[in-house]
Amino acid sequence: MVIWTAYMAGTDEAPAPWSPEIGPHVAQLRSVIVIVSGVTLATTPSLTPSGWSAVAVVETITWPTTQPHHDRLVGRILLDAGDPNVTDYISHLKRVIMDERIFINDIIVSHWHHDHGGVDDVLDAIENGKSCKVWKYPRNDAPEPVLKNATLQELKNGQKFVVDGSTLEVIHTPGHTTDHIVIYLHEDKSLFSADCILGEGSTVFEDLYDYMKSLQLISNINPSVIYPGHGNIINDPKERITMYINHRNQREAHILAALEQHPEETFDEMQLVKLIYKDTPEQLWPAAALNVNVILTKLFKEKKVAKENAGWKYGQTASL
Ligand SMILES: [Zn+2]
Repeated sequence: MVIWTAYMAGTDEAPAPWSPEIGPHVAQLRSVIVIVSGVTLATTPSLTPSGWSAVAVVETITWPTTQPHHDRLVGRILLDAGDPNVTDYISHLKRVIMDERIFINDIIVSHWHHDHGGVDDVLDAIENGKSCKVWKYPRNDAPEPVLKNATLQELKNGQKFVVDGSTLEVIHTPGHTTDHIVIYLHEDKSLFSADCILGEGSTVFEDLYDYMKSLQLISNINPSVIYPGHGNIINDPKERITMYINHRNQREAHILAALEQHPEETFDEMQLVKLIYKDTPEQLWPAAALNVNVILTKLFKEKKVAKENAGWKYGQTASL
């Protein structure tokens, strides 16, 4: 196959995502990264359309040559494991494993959302499913997902997987979820952003305060390329992160301005939606209200708004 020919030739070029030569489900990106998707891409050129996990197989260690039958196999790390019960994805992944003669020694799960956590299926599908380690940063707001055939190993912020010329650093980036991590590949200055930054549109988040700090953290790392959990590769990370930050700041400024104009009044989320999301169709208002709540919670943490009588008001003088 063309992609593996390119790989064997040691090319370090990142080809355009899903160009016809690459094929719709597997892409070789740089010399050590393979991305596998389980979707049919008939209508979108996206690398990994929304709703599906980007999966990177990153070269790690050479499998010990002393082991019989495994003397030419290479150990690798799998980043995220797609949705459960997607047979297409598993078959593409198996094809990569066979073509590349690799073992997946470790699976790193970026966060608890189901569309990144189809780990059981992968463990069932790979030959060394019993010895493969599964890593995840711990949640602090709910129990961990339970795996059928493995125990989760606890990832730590700053933990490095250093192998064979590739240094993968785990960076805790809460906000989308409390357990969200991104992975920084030092040698390539590339970042696997999972759902913190997407290739298309903007993401959702549980905690905007934490999310904005995580965006700033990634901005400071200054990666040269971002491989998101969904959507196309981001080749202009600085601009994209700035766009994300500006978009959030704009919404926040509107909410703060609305409260400031009526400093004696309290508002609930839906009242603010009606003031600020005037152009948004009414059926989307409940979703917008959730968003407003997350923004208000951030402003509360920053002591810019107060809670009073189950509503919100400007300033920090009101009681809790
Ligand atoms: Zn997610």
